[in-house]
Amino acid sequence: MKKIVIAIDGYSSCGKSTLAKGLAAALSYAYIDSGAMYRAVTLYLLQHNIDPADEEAVESALPYITIHFENIGLGNHTFLNGEDVEEAIRQMEVSENVSQVSVISAVRRAMVKQQKAMGRRKSIVMDGRDIGTVVFPEAELKIFLTADPEVRAERRYKELVEKGVDVAMEAVRRNLAERDRIDSMRSDSPLRQAEDAIVLDNTHLTHEEQLEKAIQLAEAALLQTTNQSVSL
Ligand code: C5P
Repeated sequence: MKKIVIAIDGYSSCGKSTLAKGLAAALSYAYIDSGAMYRAVTLYLLQHNIDPADEEAVESALPYITIHFENIGLGNHTFLNGEDVEEAIRQMEVSENVSQVSVISAVRRAMVKQQKAMGRRKSIVMDGRDIGTVVFPEAELKIFLTADPEVRAERRYKELVEKGVDVAMEAVRRNLAERDRIDSMRSDSPLRQAEDAIVLDNTHLTHEEQLEKAIQLAEAALLQTTNQSVSL
């Protein structure tokens, strides 16, 4: 079987990482959470009192930021300059600033360069906002995930409460709407559905049902890629 790249994009909290992780595990592929990289940059800025709106200061900080991922137990952890920040990057303070940081072109260039390098050997599932449009426009399978905004807010709220984060439902709702707005409106690689992406609405699907559908799509893409290379 040939190896492929799978890009999963969509709005905030519509279950992209759950689907991407499940799909990567089913195919024995690597999973990369591109949002975690933007979150790690944001955490660094907050830790160093750098104003996320100060583009010049943010750009100057980039050479001091190294991000990598490690599999720990069943999870994929994000490391910022050698420190495990998987929990810290999910805090509301990071969520409230990350979209502003992600607007900055210098930040995007640095992240996209690393993301492209990670996909060089294929066998990868990456989720984010611009994976099918900018990072891997040649991806063999592109999924654009959607879900009802209220259902997304409820899922996110539940997830944060389960993690022990003290947050109000209204704050979660507002944060998702604001991030979606900034992510869709920015001029550099805005969130949008790639023309050749397959839309998957998971509002009424369980995790298992959406994974099942995605595995079917991946199998079809793998078969098509293998057949194409045989007929060349
Ligand atoms: O996926 P997650 O919700 O953790 O992403 C956090 C934020 O990172 C998004 O709201 C968006 O501003 C930014 N992001 C991005 N491009 C990506 C992934 C995430 O701009 N490929």
